[in-house]
Amino acid sequence: MKVVLQIKLLPDEIQHAALKDTMRVFNEACNFIAEVAFREQCASKFVLQKRVYDDVRKQFGLSAQLTIRAIAKVVEAYKRDKSKHCFFRPTGAVVYDQRILSFKGLEAASILTLQGRLTIPMHMGEYQRLKMGRGHGQADLVLVDGVFYLLLVIETPTAPPIDPKDFIGVDLGIVQIASDSDGESFSGETVENTRRRYHELRKALQARGSRSARRHVQRIRRKESRFRRNQNHVISKKLVEKAKDTGRGIKLENLKHIRERTTVRKSDRAKHSGWSFFQLQSFIDYKAKREGVVVQYVDPRNTSRRCAICGHTEKANRKTQSRFHCVSCGQVANADKNAAINIAAPAHVNEPIVAHDDNNGGFRVQPQAPSFRAG
Ligand SMILES: [Zn+2]
Repeated sequence: MKVVLQIKLLPDEIQHAALKDTMRVFNEACNFIAEVAFREQCASKFVLQKRVYDDVRKQFGLSAQLTIRAIAKVVEAYKRDKSKHCFFRPTGAVVYDQRILSFKGLEAASILTLQGRLTIPMHMGEYQRLKMGRGHGQADLVLVDGVFYLLLVIETPTAPPIDPKDFIGVDLGIVQIASDSDGESFSGETVENTRRRYHELRKALQARGSRSARRHVQRIRRKESRFRRNQNHVISKKLVEKAKDTGRGIKLENLKHIRERTTVRKSDRAKHSGWSFFQLQSFIDYKAKREGVVVQYVDPRNTSRRCAICGHTEKANRKTQSRFHCVSCGQVANADKNAAINIAAPAHVNEPIVAHDDNNGGFRVQPQAPSFRAG
């Protein structure tokens, strides 16, 4: 399984300038190469190299290997969409390989720049230190918020899947980010408060409209997304640990339908939640794989309207965002927990199953009714 390590570089002022300069020129070279590729409709690395190699080296002063990387980057982008002339921002990623990037233990990276090779200190977390040995010197140099990082793709082993005795169903929401079928929930309150606070701040800044205000807005956006990402890491870690400790697998909703299921008023809110749900799900998925915990996806249709006790499905069952009250059998429950139980055991025995064309395959009849603890 492939994982990306994000390693922070700690260049001094002169090194910082050299990296930035190299980045700018590398991307200028990419734009030059992209023009040729598009004009001549050429997606062949070999042909393109013959055509532009000397010009790039002379015009941009790039080293041989950086020139090859620039050509490869353009070919990759061009192959993705041949109908478009691709453009590279001055702060686009620089692609390094083991000939132009090497590591001095865990403390520093030796990186080729326009000013020659520079040895730049790095900062690594514990996890990264552990995994570092698996890197092969293939990395992207990126600039985020004025900070340089190396993004290193490493191969990490996955545990053999554990045959699950049972499943934990996980319901994703806005008020509660995640609720599971055991009745445990991971509150979205702090996330929602932070989102609101950032939203207000952004609105105030956007109203000012100045250049510095716009930059400030960008900074806030990134801060907010880092916060959300961190929350998603914490929640996914807890869920996967619990599943592993109790010998269970995890069932999640297939997010293709998430927007139909969630009540959202504003489009940007929908975007925010959709994206955040997707991130949480992908975190759960890869952490589970790493630990050998089985993950299955189920059709989310009606999970929030169906009664987990009797299977009666009606919109009126869900009285409010948080309260479920079955109009048929009278079950009263927390709405998220009821949904999570439906996800853990999606179809009730008494309920006729209607096949849908876009059924994802995870939707199955469980032989026994799910056990339910009200509350
Ligand atoms: Zn019922």
